[in-house]
Amino acid sequence: MKGDLSIELFKITAEKLRPLPPFNPLVNYETTSIVALLNAYYFTDEKIERILVHQQIELKPNSLVRCLPNVEVEAQCVYCESNLNAKLPSRASKASWQPDLVCSQCQHIIYQAKEKTCACENCQLADEKKTFAFKSLFRRK
Ligand SMILES: [Zn+2]
Ligand SMILES: [Zn+2]
Repeated sequence: MKGDLSIELFKITAEKLRPLPPFNPLVNYETTSIVALLNAYYFTDEKIERILVHQQIELKPNSLVRCLPNVEVEAQCVYCESNLNAKLPSRASKASWQPDLVCSQCQHIIYQAKEKTCACENCQLADEKKTFAFKSLFRRK
């Protein structure tokens, strides 16, 4: 299920970018500029400030991490089979990128941290069914 997400990071294309929320300052820019920005950000050593200037994007360099878009990854939600999304890492943490995967349809989340469990509606339903089956198992005795 996990696959090698870090490899997918090396294929940032316009199709992979998820729509940005309206409050994200990058929402005002062309997708092609954002893709170019991301590729320069991850795959060159150029200063963030210079990359932003180069792409004519007005943003404080230290705000970029917070504005990074989500990308679609090649893993599907167990409930609705739509592709899952992941938040892009900072430049510094790209080598150890292990994002949580979020379904845009049902908000199901696959957490990388084992102690976290998803509480989306589908998971809650599945949990109730499990508890019910467990209880009826005891009732029968
Ligand atoms: Zn889903
Ligand atoms: Zn869930």
